[in-house]
Amino acid sequence: MRYTGLIENYRDRLPVDDSTRIISLGEGNTPLIRLENIPATLGKDVDIYIKYEGLNPTGSFKDRGMTLAVTKAVESGSKAIICASTGNTSASAAAYAARAGIKAFVLIPEGKIALGKLAQAMIHGAVIIQIKGNFDDGMRLVKEVADHAPVSIVNSINPYRLQGQKTAAFEIIEELGDAPDYHCLPVGNAGNISAHWMGYKEYHEDGKAAKTPKMVGYQAAGSAPFVKGEMIDEPETIATAIRIGHPQNWDLAHTVEKESNGWFDALTDEEILAVQKLLTEKEGIFCEPASAISLAGAMRDIKSGKIAEGSTIVCTLTGHGLKDPDTAIAQCKDAMITINPVMDEVREAILNNM
Ligand SMILES: *Cc1c(COP(=O)(O)O)cnc(C)c1O
Repeated sequence: MRYTGLIENYRDRLPVDDSTRIISLGEGNTPLIRLENIPATLGKDVDIYIKYEGLNPTGSFKDRGMTLAVTKAVESGSKAIICASTGNTSASAAAYAARAGIKAFVLIPEGKIALGKLAQAMIHGAVIIQIKGNFDDGMRLVKEVADHAPVSIVNSINPYRLQGQKTAAFEIIEELGDAPDYHCLPVGNAGNISAHWMGYKEYHEDGKAAKTPKMVGYQAAGSAPFVKGEMIDEPETIATAIRIGHPQNWDLAHTVEKESNGWFDALTDEEILAVQKLLTEKEGIFCEPASAISLAGAMRDIKSGKIAEGSTIVCTLTGHGLKDPDTAIAQCKDAMITINPVMDEVREAILNNM
């Protein structure tokens, strides 16, 4: 049967009925890839799977939530949606608004959004409002203006976003036959880690999984409010998707940590970039910097023994590597050889680099 997106696939577990017009781009059903080369380098016996959410229609997991948020906005008669975004939410909102035939307004932090994400928001025809401030400033303004203008907020404070995103946990359980022992994710506003936990609990309660995983959230060291235990006013990190100091799902995330027996931890930008590159070179999988933190954190916790040997671990790669070409290229300055157009020089380049 033709796959037509996660709402159709999980219709009975989502708040839609027969008359709902579904706004979908075929999101969900992303690959769960078993790592073949990296685990051996850790000196521990573990099974690591990558949930490659960068293969959603606009290149990030945001599409899982956006399909339902926009479907419900349209159902309620909304003619416009609005979001604050570090990039991927704006790309996703722009695409689903285009599909629905409604307007998207996106607030982005000036100069701090990866090139691919900006291109997406622009080409899909969103109204882009750059603010001289960060994501947290944008989020505050979106909440204020939504009370004074006829627009639906599609950030992760919109409960339909989390409902859509919980389906990733369903897919993982269906493929593995059970929940993993650990599920590791990057954490910004903590909507996604909360949504996954909802999905795992739902399938567990319905007998579709024998257990639930420990949920582990990783943050960039310069932008780690959950690790510090307090909000941060000037978050900084190269992983722009998680450059958030005032997370919108603060209480939910702490409930997830407690209920699942999980934890939060932080990694430096250097650790993040090193694993982004390792994953491309050793496994052929390209994700954006923020996404790499899930595997970077898992690797560190496997090595230290905090993640037990013999475990099955799922790491979510939240966004595709092509979202942020600038950061990728900056990491590979010496990757190009320039020659004259003659066979000898090509041969030399090959032999010197075998
Ligand atoms: C949005 C986003 C995150 C953070 O997800 P939260 O639900 O805000 O915690 C992480 N990585 C990427 C690539 C994102 O786009």
